[in-house]
Amino acid sequence: MLFEDEGIVLRQWPLGEAGGIFSILTRNHGKVRLASNNIKKNKAMRGALSPFMRDSLVYWKGRGELARLSQASLLSPFGMGVSSDYDSYLSACLMTEVSDKLFEPFQGDEGAYLLLWGALSALSKKKREAWEILLSFELRIVSNAGWKPEIFACAECGRQGDFLSFSIEKGGWVCEKCAAPGSLRFSKAQKDLFCALLLGEWGKCGGRDPKVEKLVKDWVNYYLDRKLNSLKVIREKI
Ligand SMILES: [Zn+2]
Repeated sequence: MLFEDEGIVLRQWPLGEAGGIFSILTRNHGKVRLASNNIKKNKAMRGALSPFMRDSLVYWKGRGELARLSQASLLSPFGMGVSSDYDSYLSACLMTEVSDKLFEPFQGDEGAYLLLWGALSALSKKKREAWEILLSFELRIVSNAGWKPEIFACAECGRQGDFLSFSIEKGGWVCEKCAAPGSLRFSKAQKDLFCALLLGEWGKCGGRDPKVEKLVKDWVNYYLDRKLNSLKVIREKI
């Protein structure tokens, strides 16, 4: 069956002498793996299939996981703007890596695609600092996948309030009663930064804070590990 879609290149692997396999997050069909036997001589197609590029795609898919790419033409050359400085490049690498890990083939939705598109566009145009765009993207794409941290109430008992302890296992900010001994404590400014990144309220983002950055990384990694482990269990049962 022939598909027309648009997508953003996440990863690539060589295929034989002249071909490649590409992991692409599409707008309408989730993450797809597309193979092409001959891109070496097709300069335009090779450029379009570089990491971080947003493309118009035509591909043919049969029963297997791997689809065959017929055409790829460039819509947004994010790779160029993103590669112009190291922080932006590194942030884009991490964003595409999280997107690739988050979805199985043919999983993913338009919301995730739009988040990645927006983040790469902001990075390539230097709209915000790279660290802000990266952390906000990571929090939002994991929230979009169903793992949204509770920020306005206690994640354990549901009591409303602006609490300053965080529990990854319980799913967000927790009140004094529900915070386990040794749980992470933050200042009001640190919590405000976390909330601003999650909600994309750029005006409320203060300066960079290593403790908040580590919290976001731990939050995202905890979710990805849990998801990969549950997939492993499902696969072992099959
Ligand atoms: Zn509580």
